[in-house]
Amino acid sequence: MQIVDRPSSNFGPRREGPIDLLVLHYTGMRDAGSAIERLCDPAAEVSAHWLVDEDGTVVRLVDETQRAWHAGAAVWRGIDDVNSRSIGIELVNPGHEFGYRPFPAPQMQALVQLAHGILARHAAIEPRNVLAHSDVAPARKQDPGELFDWPALAADGIGAWPTAPIATTRTLSSLLAAYGYDLRDETAAIIAFQRHFRPSRIDGVADAECCALAAALSKQAGLDYL
Ligand SMILES: [Zn+2]
Repeated sequence: MQIVDRPSSNFGPRREGPIDLLVLHYTGMRDAGSAIERLCDPAAEVSAHWLVDEDGTVVRLVDETQRAWHAGAAVWRGIDDVNSRSIGIELVNPGHEFGYRPFPAPQMQALVQLAHGILARHAAIEPRNVLAHSDVAPARKQDPGELFDWPALAADGIGAWPTAPIATTRTLSSLLAAYGYDLRDETAAIIAFQRHFRPSRIDGVADAECCALAAALSKQAGLDYL
């Protein structure tokens, strides 16, 4: 894994601990150069700890001890200062605005290596806390989106994936709320869940398959699911 240092001044001190969340993004800009420029521009007031280019180049922008500015207004498991608690990774991809496309193999391989290192350095990041930006900001964000290969990541020991769906009488909303989603906008939360865990149909409808997948995730996380 080739690491390039491109320090951004867009960070501050973490306000609370521990570091127990990992949040994945796409850059949503036309190319890597313009994304890096923006993540280093003091006027933009955005950053992330890491960026992974489509060719697998890994760029270090902000030291992991610092609070990078990637999540914005976000909530997970009641944590509302997601930036203080997380490591943020930007994946170069034009995103839904500029031509959303699959994440190429070299980029995914570099991400897996990078994430393994992050999980080793921050043991408090459990599988349930490896997240899409859309999971923590469902009403505002779509990234990294439905083309991101979460099952491949989970197969490499990074993040959760519902391997065995379970029939349940619980409502999807109650399962998602207990799992960590912010349900203030219920439809947005369901869409975020689908984008991550059931990308074949993203319609905001709480169907039986979604319930079964959420029940499986809940069981894997040691939560009530029946
Ligand atoms: Zn994002």
